[in-house]
Amino acid sequence: MLLDIIKIGDERLRKVSEEIHSIDESVLKLIKNMKDTFKKSKGVGLAAPQVGVNKRLILVKPEKEVYVFINPVIINKGVEMACDTEGCLSVPNKWINVKRYKHIDIEFIGEDGDLYKVTANNFFARIIQHEIDHLNGILIVDKNNEK
Ligand code: ZN
Repeated sequence: MLLDIIKIGDERLRKVSEEIHSIDESVLKLIKNMKDTFKKSKGVGLAAPQVGVNKRLILVKPEKEVYVFINPVIINKGVEMACDTEGCLSVPNKWINVKRYKHIDIEFIGEDGDLYKVTANNFFARIIQHEIDHLNGILIVDKNNEK
């Protein structure tokens, strides 16, 4: 099922989302619907608040494959940062320079309920940081860093 992607101005994009405590039917259904919605979009990331659900769940697609991260937490950041242009499905027609960490380690729960640790670099790291921002009610318009 396709879900509506909500846009800037909707207060659900500004809330701090809640952790998911069990991967029940409703969470699995949400993941499936978000995947369907994501595939139809041109985005490289989608966070649950963007479909109006304030839960800590993100989908990222650095290349072809879609990854699902539940309760993602950045546990380590490198020192290097980089600035690049970002867009957002919830902030149409805006392209903003955002400074992000180039290397991060994250911990998350997978769709299978297991705990994972992953190192992400460059573009992959950028998308993850953008999506985790959504879980904390932060949008790219709050950033606008200089190059
Ligand atoms: Zn976004």
